[in-house]
Amino acid sequence: MRMSRVGYFADFVVYPVLLAVLAWETLRHALAPQREDWMLAAGVGLGGWTLLEYALHRYVLHHAPPFRRMHALHHASPAALIGTPSWLSVSLIGGLVFLPLLHALQLDIASGATAGLMLGYLWYVGVHHAAHHRRARPGSYLHRAKQRHALHHHSPQACNFGVTTALWDRLFGSAQSPTGG
Ligand SMILES: [Zn+2]
Ligand SMILES: [Zn+2]
Repeated sequence: MRMSRVGYFADFVVYPVLLAVLAWETLRHALAPQREDWMLAAGVGLGGWTLLEYALHRYVLHHAPPFRRMHALHHASPAALIGTPSWLSVSLIGGLVFLPLLHALQLDIASGATAGLMLGYLWYVGVHHAAHHRRARPGSYLHRAKQRHALHHHSPQACNFGVTTALWDRLFGSAQSPTGG
């Protein structure tokens, strides 16, 4: 949805704070094996985010009616401050990821996986913002992400749903490169 500047940039404050709280609260009394579990779970959460990002963008934002309409606004005005409010993404991650994981597994695993997923989300929000608003050095990671995402916006073919990585597009056959490969 269309947002104020404060609402749009809130993710860049809210998520680092939540990540720090999750890490601090879980790790300050943890023993070495629990810390390792947390780090491992965070890695899985981060990798899991990239797949979730792909699936949400491809199947929810481009197909599910209420979200499709909102996402179409972003496609029509890529530079407008359109995004997901922090309160909504935090509630979804809390309610659909952290609480179910906490119910099923130990706190350190639930906390680590949620922190990894949040880090991934923050990475996505940052790269997506930069893709539309920042210049990037040719050959850099951001430059490749910008080019991929520009094709997502402008190609007549549905492609490049991954913003942070091209991995899932390559794996699921939706990748398109600027040279047409
Ligand atoms: Zn899209
Ligand atoms: Zn975009």
